[in-house]
Amino acid sequence: MKRRDFLSTVPLAGLAGLGSAALPRTARAAAHAAPAGQVPAVQRFAVGDITVTALADGALHIGPEALIGIEAPEYEERMRAAFRDPATFPSAVNAFLIESGDEVIMVDAGTADAMGPDLGKMPQNLEAAGVAPGDVTKLLATHLHPDHVAGALSDGGAFFPNAELVVSETDRAFWTDAGNFSGAPEMVQSFAALAQNVVGAYSDRLTTFEGEEEVARGVSAVPLPGHTPGHAGYMITSGDDALLIWADIVHVAPIQMARPDVAIGFDVDPEQAVSTRQAILDRVSADRLMIAGSHIGFPGLANVAREGEGYRLVPAQWDYAL
Ligand SMILES: [Zn+2]
Repeated sequence: MKRRDFLSTVPLAGLAGLGSAALPRTARAAAHAAPAGQVPAVQRFAVGDITVTALADGALHIGPEALIGIEAPEYEERMRAAFRDPATFPSAVNAFLIESGDEVIMVDAGTADAMGPDLGKMPQNLEAAGVAPGDVTKLLATHLHPDHVAGALSDGGAFFPNAELVVSETDRAFWTDAGNFSGAPEMVQSFAALAQNVVGAYSDRLTTFEGEEEVARGVSAVPLPGHTPGHAGYMITSGDDALLIWADIVHVAPIQMARPDVAIGFDVDPEQAVSTRQAILDRVSADRLMIAGSHIGFPGLANVAREGEGYRLVPAQWDYAL
């Protein structure tokens, strides 16, 4: 059979007539009136009977000067090899929604208006996911940096009016002790002020943890110190499924996956951040454990494979079962 004849026998061939040329005039006009910009950046994944939804807040622009422990030529070469712009890297800022039993949990809250117009989109994506701020029962903070908790505030009050704030006691103690910041650079002082405002706004419903505690149904804290003293991930477990939200283990994936020894200027203790990163990369690659990163390109879920002296990310598949 010739291809032409074959096509004429396929019942679906009639669908060819559904191309845009066949649309009624009004439908075509409506398509052109679609708003500019992206559609909502919301993506759901099942972890056993728990649903995890990645919510984009936007992107933070990081330049090579922010990294510690890599020279410019190698930085540029690695970015070019990854088809990324060596001048500025849009590092994703992701928050995650966890629906576990009756609990509606946010892991981090984005930046609100604290870090510019390319960020602060978590609320519109949360709304697109069908969740109102008042529905959220718990806000699990990975740490108290502004790209994670500035979005927990709205007009100085709590953005999530009914949520309990859960954070590591180490991070709470560190950021709320003014003595840690006397003489610190202005940016760090502003980070501390924001952290104090967040803790203040939720002071009547604040829970802290130390070590690997269960903080919600199927969700346990995993201390990952270095980026901040109390920086923590959250392990989600249901049946045979698991996902580790590893927070700020990696900020510039095209560099730090291959070179986990490269730190970033935002690390409170860069040396400890490097050893924590090396340990967790070793663990998740050996255990074939899926991770979700606050700063891994949206939706931020991936597996980690060993490659040469370092590692590489293997992005998660779209969850067709949902
Ligand atoms: Zn961060």
